[in-house]
Amino acid sequence: MSLFKKLVPNVRGKLLSDANMSASSWFKVGGPFELLFIPEDELDLLNFIKNLDHKIPIFVIGALSNTLIRDGGVKGIGIKLNEKFSNINVSNDFIEVGASLLNMKFAKYAHKNNFSGYEFLSGIPGTIGGSIIMNAGCYGREMSDILYDVKIIDRIKGLDNIPAKNLKMSYRKTSINSESIIISAKFKYFKKNWDHKYKAYIKTERVGSQPVNQLTGGSTFKNPEGYKAWKLIEDAGCRGLSIGGAKISDMHTNFIINYNNATADDIESLGNIVRQKVYDQSGIKLEWEIRKIGFTNKEEL
Ligand SMILES: Cc1cc2nc3c(=O)[nH]c(=O)nc-3n(C[C@H](O)[C@H](O)[C@H](O)COP(=O)(O)OP(=O)(O)OC[C@H]3O[C@@H](n4cnc5c(N)ncnc54)[C@H](O)[C@@H]3O)c2cc1C
Repeated sequence: MSLFKKLVPNVRGKLLSDANMSASSWFKVGGPFELLFIPEDELDLLNFIKNLDHKIPIFVIGALSNTLIRDGGVKGIGIKLNEKFSNINVSNDFIEVGASLLNMKFAKYAHKNNFSGYEFLSGIPGTIGGSIIMNAGCYGREMSDILYDVKIIDRIKGLDNIPAKNLKMSYRKTSINSESIIISAKFKYFKKNWDHKYKAYIKTERVGSQPVNQLTGGSTFKNPEGYKAWKLIEDAGCRGLSIGGAKISDMHTNFIINYNNATADDIESLGNIVRQKVYDQSGIKLEWEIRKIGFTNKEEL
């Protein structure tokens, strides 16, 4: 047993050393997590968090569709919620959903039960937890439009329920701190007809305009107020630009794709070059939407 493993509380779930999650990430890159914890259930997670030394960093991961794990790996503990955190419970007023459920599965469920308002989720890869943190959205709707409250485990306070209105949700942002773990969320209930036209529109638009079938992390940068990131990148002459195995998509310039065994460093370096070129061309500083975790190979673990 590694020294580090000895420092963490006893658990019923899985605790894996040197856990490489690159295969599960959308970019298919990145080094290992020093430790990965997959809790057995809510109580297991709660006990773990309560008893874990506060100096040890934790990183919650969902479907890794918006995260770049750097090549040198992640010092600290990754926390991944398993399928036991993916229940759906419908009450009179709300639908309560586990944080590890994939948006697409939730959208399918909503479709089957004729709950409208959730159509946009069928276009966003990722889990409910990750999508709340990112206030993910597309084509005019985002999580803040449908969320009622979240149940989280906070490292200091333990279990807590936070109403959506206190989460300061704005464009791809919430006020939930990065070491809190969303375990479930309640959504507002709309018993109306599922909007088939809107869903079909999302599907056609996406497949026609985004490299959704490639290895990517979605939009690389946030749209600066009043601008489209893809247009700034295009105007800075970056369409098709590549470094190593990473490339700016020819289809959508705000997507970086791993087209030929890229490293995380290729992807991050390319993003930084694009930021510089856009700044030189327009004076606008692009902000990364993709979350980056871990160390580069050049840094010491
Ligand atoms: C092809 C493609 C298309 C995309 N299209 C869109 C789009 O249209 N709109 C859009 O908004 N996004 C889009 N994305 C980005 C991404 O799908 C969303 O941001 C998604 O919500 C991320 O969810 P995830 O589970 O993959 O999160 P991850 O990438 O695993 O994590 C993202 C962040 O959420 C945190 N997190 C994850 N789970 C939890 C949890 N349970 N508790 C606390 N924190 C947690 C992580 O720590 C991290 O900070 C796209 C991505 C791809 C690859």
